[in-house]
Amino acid sequence: MGIDAGFDMVPRLSTGATDRHNWDTFIRIIKDMYKDDTQVEIKPNYIEFNAGEHPMLPFEGHKFLRFSSKISGSCANVEIYIDTVRRVAEVHFGSRVKYWNEIADPCGVYDWKLVHESFRSYEQRDEPEPIASIAQLITGTDPIQNIGIPLFEIAKIPGKGRGLIARLNIAKGTRILCEKPFFTVASMSPNVLEPIIAKRLRAISKDAQRQFLSLHNNYPGKHPFSGIFKTNALPCGPDSPVGGVYPTICLINHSCIPNSHNNWNDDTDHETIHANRLIKAGEEITIAYNQEGDTATRRAWLTNTFGFDCNCPACSRSASEIRVSDARRLRMKKLDDDIGNGDRMVRRPKDSLKDCHELLKLLKEEYDGCAVVLEARAYYDAFQVVITHGDQARATGFEELEDEENDDTKGTGCCEL
Ligand SMILES: [Zn+2]
Repeated sequence: MGIDAGFDMVPRLSTGATDRHNWDTFIRIIKDMYKDDTQVEIKPNYIEFNAGEHPMLPFEGHKFLRFSSKISGSCANVEIYIDTVRRVAEVHFGSRVKYWNEIADPCGVYDWKLVHESFRSYEQRDEPEPIASIAQLITGTDPIQNIGIPLFEIAKIPGKGRGLIARLNIAKGTRILCEKPFFTVASMSPNVLEPIIAKRLRAISKDAQRQFLSLHNNYPGKHPFSGIFKTNALPCGPDSPVGGVYPTICLINHSCIPNSHNNWNDDTDHETIHANRLIKAGEEITIAYNQEGDTATRRAWLTNTFGFDCNCPACSRSASEIRVSDARRLRMKKLDDDIGNGDRMVRRPKDSLKDCHELLKLLKEEYDGCAVVLEARAYYDAFQVVITHGDQARATGFEELEDEENDDTKGTGCCEL
């Protein structure tokens, strides 16, 4: 005997990127919370709480309908699990989490037949789509990362070679990819670099060697390894002389108004890609190899360095729109330089704050609201200005805004930035 209690997910989660992202985060937190609890068992496809009627949480969130058990009689110790898991679920899914107990509401929301069907579905993962092999290229260590349908596929893009195409709508802030480089090495002249890369290549698997050699080379000739490195390497952090080459990230093409941004994590030696905005299914995933300068400067640099003519939405604007954009980018550069002037920040804080304000406005206009990382930097600069002048209250406000921008582009999993 005893009474049933638990919670239902209403409506049930979809297989869409946002629900998957939230569920993955939720599962990760639950796993962390109970990692030392011997009653909580991590099965291949779900978490089982070995108390009461053994409630379970599947790794595939769209299968989840109910977490419940009898909570009295011989099952009394499960009540705390239900209460805690419900509270964590509410943080992630809000009012979709419907708590019920047999006394107040005898049947929950879903029919038991449907609930038992959902439990049975936990045993078997959904068949991955053929493209799932792409996910295996990702070297994240958290198994949750590789669950379900990958967010993108590798496809031929006219005029650009290979690229990444979103398979689903990808919500702003989603971590699209997290990847370790084949190796990292400092940039230097090709004849010095060539034997160094050859040695690094000998240290990686045959499969990884093949992947490296399949990458595009804009500098064919007597230094093929350095050519591939120069064409594909991303700096390990802003202005770092050290670069990394990646199996998948190196396939992401450039846009001067990118929908994603890349970030190097020094602690975990990973590069991550996060969505700057909603990326619609079918849209190409892009990052900026360089977003400095006016249109002509950018395009010349891209042609010289990477060997392609940029025809991104920014570079394809009409002549009059390009003039406006160039003037805006020039002004942004001037504002950025002025804000970075420490002496001015100390002597003319009001002007520095005004510059931060104008820079934020221009960033929003130029990048169509997608410059979250650059905006976070501007908020940080504003924070620096006011904290220098002892304005703690306003500093806190800017700090929160900076955090908000950063949070928007942080994902979950093994290599959180
Ligand atoms: Zn462009």
